[in-house]
Amino acid sequence: MIHSNIFNASFLKFLCALLGAVLLGTVLLPTDSAAQRNPKVQALLEKMSQQERQKFLALPRNERRQFIRNYQAKQAKRKELDTRGDQSERELATPLVTSSKSAAEPQPGSNSTPNDLYFIDAHSQMDPNVDIERIISLMNHSGIYRTLLSNHMGRPWTDINEYAKQFPGRIIPTVRVKGRGYFLNDMGRYLEQLLPPIESGNFRALAEVHLWHDSDGGKYTEVKYSFDDPIIQRTLKEAKSGGWPFIIHIEFNSLEGNDYQNYMEDLGHFLKANPDHPFILIHMAQLEAEPVAKLLAAHSNLHFMTSHASPSYQRGGKPFINMFEDDSLKQGWKALIARYPDRFVFALDNVFSFFWTPDRFLTKMRLWWKAIAELPPKQAHLLAHGNAERLWKLPPKSSSVVVFTPDQAEKHLGSVKGNASTSRRRRR
Ligand SMILES: [Zn+2]
Repeated sequence: MIHSNIFNASFLKFLCALLGAVLLGTVLLPTDSAAQRNPKVQALLEKMSQQERQKFLALPRNERRQFIRNYQAKQAKRKELDTRGDQSERELATPLVTSSKSAAEPQPGSNSTPNDLYFIDAHSQMDPNVDIERIISLMNHSGIYRTLLSNHMGRPWTDINEYAKQFPGRIIPTVRVKGRGYFLNDMGRYLEQLLPPIESGNFRALAEVHLWHDSDGGKYTEVKYSFDDPIIQRTLKEAKSGGWPFIIHIEFNSLEGNDYQNYMEDLGHFLKANPDHPFILIHMAQLEAEPVAKLLAAHSNLHFMTSHASPSYQRGGKPFINMFEDDSLKQGWKALIARYPDRFVFALDNVFSFFWTPDRFLTKMRLWWKAIAELPPKQAHLLAHGNAERLWKLPPKSSSVVVFTPDQAEKHLGSVKGNASTSRRRRR
C-alpha cells in the first residue's frame, strides 16, 4: 500500500516535469527570438533557404509545427531522390522498351513516333475496380510516358504511393482533394484525408479542386464553393507549399446568367490575387475558344487542361466542349495553341474503372495522337508533355525509352493486360 503511494507520488512528479518540458517546448517553438528558440528548430532554420526561413517566420504559431513536418518530409524525399539518381529512374521507368538484341530487331527509327512525340496524362484517377497492370498497359499502348494519378472512391492513397514506387517516374502520385470531408465542408475531416499523403513526402502533385460541379441529375455530388471559402484557401496553401499547380474544376457551360458572371469575376480576382502561382482550368472549364482567349490574355498564370474535351464526351449528360472537327483540332483551337503554346496541358482524366477499358481509352488516344501530331512540332511537344514537365518539374523522357503510338503498340506489345470493371457504377 505504502509502496504504491510512494510510486504514485514520484510518478506524479515525473508527469509534472514532463508536462512542464512539453509546455516549455510549445512556448519556445513559435517565438522568433533565436536566443529563446528550441535548438532543434534553430538547427533546422539554419539549413533552410532564405525563402523557406522567411515563410516559416511569417507563419502564425499554430501552423509552424506543420510547416516543420512538411519541411522534414520534403528533405527526406530530396535525399532519397539524390541517392537514387536519374539513372535508376530511367532503368525502372522502361518496361515499354523493346530494344532487344535479337535478329528480328526492327530497323532503327522504325518504332519512332511522329517527331518523337510522347504524352504525359496530367490528371487521371484510379478507383478500386481497375488494377495497376491495366493502367500501365494502357499507358504503354498509347505512348503515355507518365500519368499523374490520384486515388478515387474507396481506393486508399497508400495504394497510389505503392504504385509510384513500383513504377517510378511513370506513376506520379497525386494528392486527392475531393472526398466526404471536402464535400461536406468539414475541415477537420478533410484535413485528415488531405494531409497524410502530403506528409509522406512522396506525392508530387495535387488533383483537381471542385469549385462548381453539377450533380447531373443526382449522379454525382453537387459542389458549389466560392474562392474565398476556407476549405479552398486551405487547399491553395498546400498547393503553394508543395510547389504544385492548383487545378480548378468549374463547369462554365452549365452556369447561367449571374452565376456565370459571378464565377468568371471571382476567378479573375483569385488569379490576380495569386499572380506567382500557376493555375489550371481542367476539362477546358467547358469554355469555347473565345472566352478562353480572353482569360489567357488577362492572366499569364492561367492554363487549360484538355480532359473531357473530345467527341466521346458529347454523349454524356454534361455539356463538355468538343475541341475536334472530324479528327483534327478545330481551327480556333489551333490558332489559340499557336498563340499561347505554353498554356495548354494534355490530360485524359480517366475517372471510373470503365474509362480504363482498351476500346474507350485507345479510341481517344488515337484521335489525340493524330490531332496533336498535326501541330507544328514545338507546339505538339509542349501540349503533349512539355508544359506538364515545366509545371510539375518533371524530367523529360530519356531518348533511350521507346514509346509507341496506339497503332505501333499492337504489333509490339500484343493485347492490353490487366483488369478494369466495365460496370457503370459511378459516384462523384
Ligand atoms: Zn473534374
